[in-house]
Amino acid sequence: MEQQTSSSACNSELQTSIINIDGLKAAGNCDHVTVERWSVDDIMALFELPFNDLLHKAQLVHREHHEPNAVQVSTLLSIKTGGCSEDCGYCPQAARYHTEVENEPLMKLDDVLAAAKAAKDSGASRFCMGAAWRGPKQRDLDPVLKMIAEVKAMGLETCATLGMLKDGQAEQLKEAGLDYYNHNLDTAPEYYGDVISTRTYQDRLDTLDRVRSVDINVCCGGIIGMGESRAQRAGLLAQLANMEQPPESVPINLLTQVEGTPMHGTEALDPLEFVRTIAAARVTMPNSFVRLSAGRQSMGDAVQALCFLAGANSIFYGEKLLTTGNPEADADNALFAKLGLKKI
Ligand code: SF4
Repeated sequence: MEQQTSSSACNSELQTSIINIDGLKAAGNCDHVTVERWSVDDIMALFELPFNDLLHKAQLVHREHHEPNAVQVSTLLSIKTGGCSEDCGYCPQAARYHTEVENEPLMKLDDVLAAAKAAKDSGASRFCMGAAWRGPKQRDLDPVLKMIAEVKAMGLETCATLGMLKDGQAEQLKEAGLDYYNHNLDTAPEYYGDVISTRTYQDRLDTLDRVRSVDINVCCGGIIGMGESRAQRAGLLAQLANMEQPPESVPINLLTQVEGTPMHGTEALDPLEFVRTIAAARVTMPNSFVRLSAGRQSMGDAVQALCFLAGANSIFYGEKLLTTGNPEADADNALFAKLGLKKI
């Protein structure tokens, strides 16, 4: 398993001293601490528990670390849709795939602020702004910094997902008032090459390091149901759980298959395997908010209820989820009422 360090200069041969701290395995190295809390085998053992035992374990962890019936609610707005130069095999926004998504310019500030106000009025506590870029050029970043500052001034938490960040860009985002940066690992390192070729796993880790280094909260997860194996699902969770500081927010997406993308036609994942993935994420990252993200629309109330039982405690709500649909806010409110969940 690849271990996470805050410096690529560390020599892994020095990472030798394994000690037990509160039941966690921690490896000391140079002037950093590299943690190996969960091996892929450990996480596979969770996946292979009887379903009820896994959900029971996840509920116990969840109740120890979170309000059991509270769900954090974010709204996501695509501020720059389509025309992306990357080749993520699941994404209808990649310019190279023939989908119905058009290349649109960056939204105007006033339109973004109107959407943020609507999100706030409908109960969202966090407003996420997503742009389909490989990474922002400075001329792209400047107007986004303004959006972040103004959304923050409205009393919402701010989140952005803009692609890979270069040196100095995380500092500018922090200065503008950004609370969270989303950048997903997508899948396990072993399966990554089957999903995308235009950026490396290390590129992603480097962006996450830049975000962490300026104390912006990290939102990082992946996509399930892309044809990966169970061991690769466990491998993704191991990457996340073993970060020196696991992400504050862990979106677990179910692949939304879009015609025209290479992953359209992938064999659909058993919904109970998705629930198991949520439960394993909850157990391995007890303090993180585990977010039901893309694909929620296709799950129906019963599977979503199982996901909440398994420890999911964050959703995207209301607005369209980037370019694929999201259940209407009314349907979410009805489900919350049925389950006795409250929005936070
Ligand atoms: S997932 Fe993001 S980076 Fe990848 S093609 Fe889509 S918009 Fe571009």
